[in-house]
Order: sequence, then structure tokens, then C-alpha cells
Amino acid sequence: MAEHESLEFGKADFVLLDNVSMEEFMANLKLRFEKGRIYTYIGEVVVSVNPYRAMNIYGRDTVEQYKGRELYERPPHLFAIADAAYKAMKRRNKDTCIVISGESGAGKTEASKYIMQYIAAITNPNQRAEVERVKNMLLKSNCVLEAFGNAKTNRNDNSSRFGKYMDINFDFKGDPIGGHISNYLLEKSRVIFQQEGERSFHSFYQVNSCINDGADFKAVADAMKVIGFTGDEIQTVYKILAAILHLGNLTFGVDGDVTLIENTKLVSVLRELLSTKEENVEKALLYRTVATGRDVIEKQHTEQEASYGRDALAKAMYERLFCWIVGRINDIIEVKNYDARVHGKNTVIGVLDIYGFEIFQNNSFEQFCINYCNEKLQQLFIQLVLKQEQEEYQREGIPWKHIDYFNNQIIVDLVEQQHKGIFSVLDEACMNVGKVTDEVFLQGLNGKLAKHAHYTSRKLSPTDKNLEFDRDFRIRHYAGDVVYSVVGFIDKNKDTLFQDFKRLLYNSSNTVLKAMWPEGKLSITEVTKRPLTAATLFKNSMISLVENLACKEPYYVRCIKPNDVKSPLLFEIERCRHQVEYLGLLENVRVRRAGFAYRQTYPRFLQRYKMISEFTWPNHDLPSDREAVKKLMQGCGFDHDAAYGKTKVFIRTPRTLFSLEEQRAEM
Ligand code: ATP
Ligand code: MG
Repeated sequence: MAEHESLEFGKADFVLLDNVSMEEFMANLKLRFEKGRIYTYIGEVVVSVNPYRAMNIYGRDTVEQYKGRELYERPPHLFAIADAAYKAMKRRNKDTCIVISGESGAGKTEASKYIMQYIAAITNPNQRAEVERVKNMLLKSNCVLEAFGNAKTNRNDNSSRFGKYMDINFDFKGDPIGGHISNYLLEKSRVIFQQEGERSFHSFYQVNSCINDGADFKAVADAMKVIGFTGDEIQTVYKILAAILHLGNLTFGVDGDVTLIENTKLVSVLRELLSTKEENVEKALLYRTVATGRDVIEKQHTEQEASYGRDALAKAMYERLFCWIVGRINDIIEVKNYDARVHGKNTVIGVLDIYGFEIFQNNSFEQFCINYCNEKLQQLFIQLVLKQEQEEYQREGIPWKHIDYFNNQIIVDLVEQQHKGIFSVLDEACMNVGKVTDEVFLQGLNGKLAKHAHYTSRKLSPTDKNLEFDRDFRIRHYAGDVVYSVVGFIDKNKDTLFQDFKRLLYNSSNTVLKAMWPEGKLSITEVTKRPLTAATLFKNSMISLVENLACKEPYYVRCIKPNDVKSPLLFEIERCRHQVEYLGLLENVRVRRAGFAYRQTYPRFLQRYKMISEFTWPNHDLPSDREAVKKLMQGCGFDHDAAYGKTKVFIRTPRTLFSLEEQRAEM
């Protein structure tokens, strides 16, 4: 018996559970983890549990075992999903995407790298130099992005602090010819503040060349070189990092009415690193140009404003640097010289490695955005998975039966709807001329959303124990309740960087740096438009991400973190159960089973089960495989549980499948 069919390792597909209950689901997940089987299917979804140890399952030999095979032929594996996505792309000319989700430390980024590694391994059999070059760059870009976008947190030593979506483009031969990366919401506040036990982005330690990070520094600089960054560019990158580090040491004081910089030596260091004039640096840090009617005046910062400005500058420089790096990588890896009229359609596999649902002790604007992102992805999942099922039944000519599930569109609307949604209320509060405070925002929410079933706040539910503070509001997400504190929402949404800083950087004689700050060209009187708020930018980027994913054939990887101590031995059942809940995995199994748990093409079905029926063993003389399968099923008394499509047989309950398996084993 093939390994994945043996019950010693649990059920390889959750759809085959006898009962879809949390208990059975968890027992199966735990058993498989303990037996070293970290992957399990729900139909075409891979559930992955982080093993926290090196597994010998990603080598060349494993690649060979999965290459070109069908999903159920081999034990569940990321490679099988990658191969399915690749086959869909190559054989059916479909654009596909692989959506990887799960909480911090669950293994998303590792999974995305194994998937890319698999695709790199199975493509370009002719070793074309250009394709090899592209593959190398796609793989190397990971190393650079991780250096600048990842950090050590209490949850994960190499935590991605940004969302990433990468398209890989293929030519008609199925070989990679380019790619494109989109990045989402970098956690830039980390530049100025880290929780105890956490670090800032890896890049800062690499440029400081500490003991452990020194070697990484070389690896990253080499990777940048290989990708095609120029020497000047690489130097500028490190100058910016150094400037940000020095900004962190800059402090302000007051003398009478005058705000001043305490450690003035740093100003000349900054001037040098940023290739600007010393007096400009000082002025930008201490003054703000404001337009009042027709006059333009220089207004001195208070000490507090100066500190605020310094921090905003550090964050903005880093964020801009990060986006610029992504942009440069994109320039270099974009598909060139491909004429679809000559070469046929250029197809795409997209890989999404994005933050999972977050519930922390204290949840702020960032968690709100991240959880909204997960609502969007859940909505997409509902639409795509149901749509896919529906389409398959239609294609096969099988009547479709409606399934009940919780549709989270109501929560998506709660957040993103024009005028009424939380983002709109927030933007409105930010535009207030008078009082612009987090409390005004909260009042706005209470006014607009008092009756919404998924929203409440301390004011609306004063006796609710979970709403401890006046500033709290709660959203009932599809994945669970989250209490957010409004503190900081306004500030983070406005995300103000004084124009003086933009102008400072734009006027740098370092052309690479200057090019990162084109809007610094404008003087204060020319800056007319309000910049889009962080919420609006994020909303727009999520909407376009979802649109992009929606037109692709989706594959899902759902990652689970087995414990909080990075142990390869520990499966903390409560911890995992919680993740299974909010990843909606049981619902996923139910949706999958409400239709048909199992489907298989007629020839393959016969190949596997023909020995259990006298009508089909060793060969059948019926007019078609379809008829033969029908006869087989009738003979075994399973006919009531099956439907016969044009090319596939559909079996409703896993019980039938088990019986078939049992009978087969008895032969
Ligand atoms: P974050 O959201 O914080 O970025 P993540 O889901 O991307 O988290 P990873 O960085 O992929 O998490 O994984 C965390 C760590 O877990 C890895 O650094 C590695 O040590 C271990 N790990 C994850 N997947 C595997 C695997 N398949 N085999 C061995 N170790 C793994
Ligand atoms: Mg990650």
C-alpha cells in the first residue's frame, strides 16, 4: 500500500475524516505531525505544520517524485501543489496563483521559497543561459528582500515585516522569463521602536557588521551585485541605512524659546551621508515651512515636533528605500523582448506570502489593516473555491447543490465601504479642520456603526468586560473577535512627513537618493493635494491584489505553527486549534464535502479499483470506462453515493471511498 493511503500516518486528506469535527480534525493533524508528516490536504489545499527541524523532503530526489504527477498519487507535499499550478499553466495555459497564509512563524516564507525552488528545478531542461539568469535573479531577490524587510521578533527570528506577492512569468515552453514583485505595508515603525527582545530590520545589523551579521552583509551585497544593482546604488543603500541609524541618536533640547539639536556633530555626519548642505539638514530638523495665505513662513518646531519629525523622517527614508529596492529588482527582472504574437501567451504563476490574521495584547492600526487583508483573502477564498467547485460540476454536467457557509462580505464592507466603512470614517476624521484626535474618530465610528452586528465599542456596550478602555472598539472578524485601541490611528493614517524633509532629500547631490524623492521638487506653495492616507493606499492595494488573484486559478497553502517555543517535538493542541479555527479549515472541509468529497477520472478510477468487481477485472467489455465505473459502483452498492460526470466520477461521502479502499486491500 502506498504510504499516503496507510492509516498509520493518519488521513492524508481531511476530506476523508469520518466526521468533520474539530476533535477529529485535530487528532489527525497531531498524529501526522508526530509521525513527521507535516503536509495534509483538504482537496487541493495543503495544510502545513511547521516542523521546526530540517526535513529531508526537499531534495532533488523528492523533486523527481513529484514532477508531472497527479495530486493524489504521492503523499501530500508543497511540491505537488507547485506542480499542479505549473501543469495548469503549461497544459491549459492558465494563469495560476499560490496563496500562502498563516500566522507569524508558521512557515509561509519557507514554503514560498520551496515552491520557487521546485519551479526552478523542473524548468529549463535545455539550460538556456537567459532562463538560467532569470531563475538565478528570482531566487537571489529573496535574499535581498529578506535583509531589508525581515527582522527578528519574539515570534520568529526571521519574520517578514511586509506582504509580498511575486509573479513569475513563463514563455510558451514553460520556462521562467521574468517576474514582478508587489510589496504591501512594510512595518516601518520598527525602524524607531522595537518590543523588548526584538530587533529592527536585519539590514541595520548587517551594515553595522556585528559578529553574526557580517557574513550576511557580504551575501546581501553580493546578491545585489548579481541582480544588477550598480556600485553607486549599493553604496547609497548603505549610506541611507547609516543615516537612519545616526538619526536614531539625534536628540533635541530647548534653550529659552529655541529648540536646538543637542549632538550637533551628528548633523555633519548626516550631511555627508546624505550629500546635502549642513545648514539644510539642521533647518529641516528644526523648522517647518508653512504657507499662510500668500505668505510663506518658517515656523520653529517645539522639541516634541522636532522629535516627531525626526522619527517620521527615519521611517519614511526606510520605507522609501525598501520600495525603491523592490522597484529596482522589478526593472531588472521584468520580462523583456517577449512578443506574444510570435511566442504565444506569456503565462504567470503568482506566489503570495502575506501576513496572517493577528490578535495581539494591544491591537492598533497595523493589525487592523492586516486583519482587513485577511478578510479580503477569505472572501476571495469563498468565491474562488465555491466558484471552482461550481464550475467543475457544470463542466461535468452534475447538478449543483447550494452550500451554506458564513459569507464575510459583511465585514469587508464594514471596513471598506465608501462613506460608511471604517476606513472612510477614519479618513473623514483626518480631514477635520478643528480637532483631529483619535477620540473624534471613535465618535464617528459609534455614530455610523452603532447598529452594525460586527461592530461595537465601550460606549455602545459599557458592561462588556473585554472592552476595558474608553478608546477600545471591537470587530467581530470571521476569524474571531478583535479589540482594537484607537490610539495612534489618526497619526498612522495621516502618515505626515514634512515637505521640508522631502525637499532636503530631493536636493541631495547623490542622484540615486534624489531619484527616490521626486515629490521633494515641489515648494510648500505648490503642494496642493493632500497625499492619500495610509488606509486608502492600503485599501487600494488590497483591492487590486484581490482583482489580480481573482482572475487566476488558485492553490492554497495554509500554514500552522505548532508551538511558541520553536520546538520540533511539541504540538500544542489549543494553540493549533485556534489557528485551525481562524484559517477556516473546518469550513473548508465542509464546503469541499458538501459537494463531493472525491472525484476522479474514469480511467484512473478503474486503474485503482477494477480488481474489486467481476465486471471490470481484469478488463471490462462495456462500451466506455464511464459505464464500467457505473457498473462497478452498482455492484458494490455505492451507486446512491455517486454521480457520473462527463469525464469523472464523483463520490459524495468519504465512507464510500474507505469501503472501496478496504475492499481493494482485501483482494
Ligand atoms: P512571518 O509571518 O513572521 O514572516 P513565516 O510564516 O514566514 O513568518 P517562516 O519564516 O517561513 O515563517 O518560518 C519560521 C521558521 O520556522 C524558519 O526560519 C524555520 O526555522 C522554520 N521552518 C518553517 N518552515 C520550515 C520547514 N518546512 N522545514 C524546516 N523548518 C521550517
Ligand atoms: Mg515570512
